[in-house]
Amino acid sequence: TSPVRRGTTLEVRLVPYGRDQRLLIARDTTRTERLETMRRDFVSNVSHELKTPLTVIYGVADEMRDELAAKEPEWAQPIQLLHEQAQRMQTLVQDLLMLSRLETAAPSPEQWPVDVGNLLDKLCAESRALSGDREHQIELEAEPGLQIYGSESELRSAFSNLLSNAVRYTPDGGKIRVRWFSDANGAYGVVEDTGIGIPQEHINRLTERFYRVDKGRSNATGGTGLGLAIVKHVMQRHAGRLHIKSTPDKGSEFMLVFPRRVISGRSIY
Ligand code: ADP
Repeated sequence: TSPVRRGTTLEVRLVPYGRDQRLLIARDTTRTERLETMRRDFVSNVSHELKTPLTVIYGVADEMRDELAAKEPEWAQPIQLLHEQAQRMQTLVQDLLMLSRLETAAPSPEQWPVDVGNLLDKLCAESRALSGDREHQIELEAEPGLQIYGSESELRSAFSNLLSNAVRYTPDGGKIRVRWFSDANGAYGVVEDTGIGIPQEHINRLTERFYRVDKGRSNATGGTGLGLAIVKHVMQRHAGRLHIKSTPDKGSEFMLVFPRRVISGRSIY
């Protein structure tokens, strides 16, 4: 009815109205989109600005730990604390940068065949190292040569977040099972653990930035609160979905579902 100004963003929906009519609903989302862009730019700029000073702080803390802490035992504890916190901030800034790249980069990632089974093999080895004395049993079953078109670095980041969560939220000695397989509908990556689980009412909100079921526990385990938000964005960029199933005190299952059309065939090895 009223003229729309140039540069306006409209969200348009057609909904059934009465028996054989349709209603066209147009919503002006210009302001919300502008605010969203400002938020993204702000987070991205702040993270960039923090990156260099943090690298310096972490580097100095690292040197102090090696040099000073050995000579002056009374400094060992504060230096260790400084080192840990600098490392934590670095991880947070890296995750923030990753997330803003995923939000702003062109919709389709690099499209090369990625051998996800191979990738998972390396990630499982890294997770065993991360688990260390906590002795989790980490098992992988992968369909040989099953490849999908996508971005290897983004897929690595998604699976690595799921695996590090499984290690962090599963008591010592617990079992973590990783699977990679396909059927007529698509390819599936599953990370299953026998950990603390997640109460049902939290499941829908887990992929929001900084959403945590238990903030104290998450901080203690060294999480940034951005892992599952990253996984969700990677899946959107691969036309896929994330499904989460969990039972408190029993364990959780995170399934990445890729549509049939991104499967690139099977390699011969
Ligand atoms: P965080 O860095 O806090 O782990 P994530 O975005 O990766 O952030 O996860 C969000 C929240 O989901 C976590 O704080 C935790 O409460 C819950 N969560 C994620 N993975 C698991 C898991 N495997 N088992 C139990 N809880 C989990």
